[in-house]
Amino acid sequence: MRKVGLVYSPVYLEHDMGPAHPESPARLKAIIRHLEETGLKEKLVDIEPSPSPVEWIEQIHAPEYIQFVKDICDAGGGLLDYGDTTACAKSYHAALTAAGAGLAAVDAVMDGKIGRAFCAVRPPGHHAERDRAMGFCLFNNIAIAAVYIQKKHKIERVLILDWDVHHGNGTEHTFCESSDVFYASIHQYPHYPGTGAARDCTGRGKRGFTLNVPLPAGSGDDAYIEALKEEILPRAREFKPGFVLISAGFDAHRMDPLAGMELTDDGYRGMTRMLCELAEETAGGRVVSFLEGGYDLSAMPRSVAAHIEELGR
Ligand SMILES: [Zn+2]
Repeated sequence: MRKVGLVYSPVYLEHDMGPAHPESPARLKAIIRHLEETGLKEKLVDIEPSPSPVEWIEQIHAPEYIQFVKDICDAGGGLLDYGDTTACAKSYHAALTAAGAGLAAVDAVMDGKIGRAFCAVRPPGHHAERDRAMGFCLFNNIAIAAVYIQKKHKIERVLILDWDVHHGNGTEHTFCESSDVFYASIHQYPHYPGTGAARDCTGRGKRGFTLNVPLPAGSGDDAYIEALKEEILPRAREFKPGFVLISAGFDAHRMDPLAGMELTDDGYRGMTRMLCELAEETAGGRVVSFLEGGYDLSAMPRSVAAHIEELGR
């Protein structure tokens, strides 16, 4: 088995948006418990992340917004957007450490300590925009990792594949002008956050490397696999990424309460395999994935385990 890193910190449990909120600490507890119970966790390389230096957060987010999040947390917490994203006193530290997970994972892969990694983080990141929190997301963890790969490790082209059931508006907007970060998303449409129509952003960079594959509610494993195989992977192969990042939400699972897709554990396994094959071809096998959504506390940990097992093949 290839060495797979599990990047996780108990700090992530301290970010709490209230007892009724679906994006809860219980999500990560359920994942870790499942990995322990199935014996998978002991096969993984534990990586303890540090908080990301603010300089890396500033690669993606406005300094005023970063300060705004810090100020809210220093004041004990409060609302960060218009309703569904809040902070408690510990959220700023948790969010810096969630971003730090990507940096730690990328460093460990580049050092050869591990082959691939899964970052079991929260708060998630792909809805976070340059100057605002959104959709349970504070800082855009995967976007920060992409820039880190380019600037710190001098790898020119990065693929971000986003299979969270929701469109990753923040990541798309960050890289819409870029011709060296290829953002591709498969998502339920129409659905929150409303962006991600096929015509929305086809990339204004030199080579147009943004690709949205909106799918109707009720789509399952076959539709996702076909979208990857027929639409995304051919263009990704042409792009030749030097690193593959995955916004791995598990809320397109048929059991998920927040959306209407029909993916199974095998669907996540299959998509992971296809992305690992691409990484083998162009990226020295390098894959790092980030937990985004996923709200069914029994299905989501199983899908995560299937995803991690496949990362290790
Ligand atoms: Zn989601």
